[in-house]
Amino acid sequence: MSKSVSVDNFPKPTSITGGCLCGSLRYRVDFPKDHDFLKGSGSCQCTQCRRNTGAVIFIAHTAPLSGFTFLTSTETLKKFYATPGFQRAFCTNCGSFLYWRDESLEDVELAVGCVDPEYLSKFGFALANASGHNVWCENEIKGVTDHILIKERGIKWSRNSGSAKFLGKLHEML
Ligand SMILES: [Zn+2]
Ligand SMILES: [Zn+2]
Repeated sequence: MSKSVSVDNFPKPTSITGGCLCGSLRYRVDFPKDHDFLKGSGSCQCTQCRRNTGAVIFIAHTAPLSGFTFLTSTETLKKFYATPGFQRAFCTNCGSFLYWRDESLEDVELAVGCVDPEYLSKFGFALANASGHNVWCENEIKGVTDHILIKERGIKWSRNSGSAKFLGKLHEML
């Protein structure tokens, strides 16, 4: 059994690898020494992210773009724009959604489910603790997505963090 983790004490990776389901796209992410694994962990419940992931909640971790490197060719990489300026990067062979990115920012929101299992088992809390921004909470599904992660901690926003109603600050760190 692994030891229990909390926001005050959890293992942090210096780097991780991940990739798509078919293996055509593999990547590595190097985190800066001062990377904040609490603020970097968020989620989205907008309809675009739901359709993109096929999941009722999109768990994302924000990492600096400068630390993101593809380890394979990017032949099967395609970027879909549901909204102009916002990349949704996926594999054209298997459909895996790797990351979401606001092109006006120098970071990338990793789809945590595509991180390699050995890193997820060890550092899953660091990547998916949801202590940062949890957006589009007005779309919460009662009894389902209002019960996980963000109920315990993190910042909840009704829509986008920039413009929408602030629903609550659930962790003192932020
Ligand atoms: Zn693939
Ligand atoms: Zn979204």
